[in-house]
Amino acid sequence: MLGCVIHGQDDLRVEELPVPVPGAGQALVAVRYGGVCGSDLHYWRHGGVGDFRLKEPMVLGHEVVGTVVSYGDGASGPATGTAVAVHPATPCSVCPECADRRRNVCRDTRYLGSAARFPHVQGGFAAQVVVPADQLRPLPVGLDLRRAALAEPLSVALHAVRRAGEVAGRHVLVAGAGPIGCLVVAAAKAAGAERVTVTDLLPTALEYARIAGADSLVRADDPDDAGWRRLSEVDVAVEASGVAAGLDTCLRLVRRGGVVVQLGMLPPGLSPFAGNLVVSREIELRGAFRFDGEFDAALELLAAEGSFDGLVSAVVPVREAESAFALAADRSRSCKVLLDFGG
Ligand SMILES: [Zn+2]
Ligand SMILES: [Zn+2]
Repeated sequence: MLGCVIHGQDDLRVEELPVPVPGAGQALVAVRYGGVCGSDLHYWRHGGVGDFRLKEPMVLGHEVVGTVVSYGDGASGPATGTAVAVHPATPCSVCPECADRRRNVCRDTRYLGSAARFPHVQGGFAAQVVVPADQLRPLPVGLDLRRAALAEPLSVALHAVRRAGEVAGRHVLVAGAGPIGCLVVAAAKAAGAERVTVTDLLPTALEYARIAGADSLVRADDPDDAGWRRLSEVDVAVEASGVAAGLDTCLRLVRRGGVVVQLGMLPPGLSPFAGNLVVSREIELRGAFRFDGEFDAALELLAAEGSFDGLVSAVVPVREAESAFALAADRSRSCKVLLDFGG
């Protein structure tokens, strides 16, 4: 079977891999689609993401949907042939964070296609993948596999909005209109935000944010954009670009006492931003990392809302993985790009 393996910076290979065999408690899934994530692109272009560095070859991919093939000993779940989305996290269930029901920040979690621990956890960009059976979720009625491939990034977005606290009736700013930023827009609207404004440098990216439900769009590089004037009353800002300038923008624009959620993974090491604004304006700066129970809510939201289809900008056969990655990295030409493992 074919899989998509990162060997190091700029060294992405589509290669023949052995078909895995599910062990006790595990399921074998025939992968149909895998969404290319910003973190996959970081492993490819930089050999790491955030402070996680690549130390051995790793199958990429954690945004995975497909159909159930078989189960290992003692495992059960959706019937063979059922369309499923794969929850990519296996928290340890015994650490203090797990005990505190903050499983997304578990200190000993396993996450598909992540170099956060060593040996790395191999990912799901392969024709077949073995995962713990209890991480399979059958798709709700009305949801096809293509749209379901957005379940993982939408879960990330839902978690970020939850971290922001109450957004109903509020004005939310989203910095960065990549796939995650766009899904934060959708999540904020679903949570009742009255107005969602999105900033980005790229007009194409802003158009995807509009598809996701943004009320107003602001060109981040244009100080004369009329949209800036309406931003003095932002209650909540979600930083989804992963650059320090985005965080700085959020801190400057959120109202006094407002909430800023840092969702984008910043570059490794220290990041410059106007920290004194956190002090003098009593801004609450909160991190958001991955998700936990939001995965089920994401599937329900995807099933209910067809406009998400507009955020899947391309579906590319796995053999052309490198061009799919190049496309996903070029935000002037794409939003979410899916790899197709369906033959
Ligand atoms: Zn992702
Ligand atoms: Zn844990």
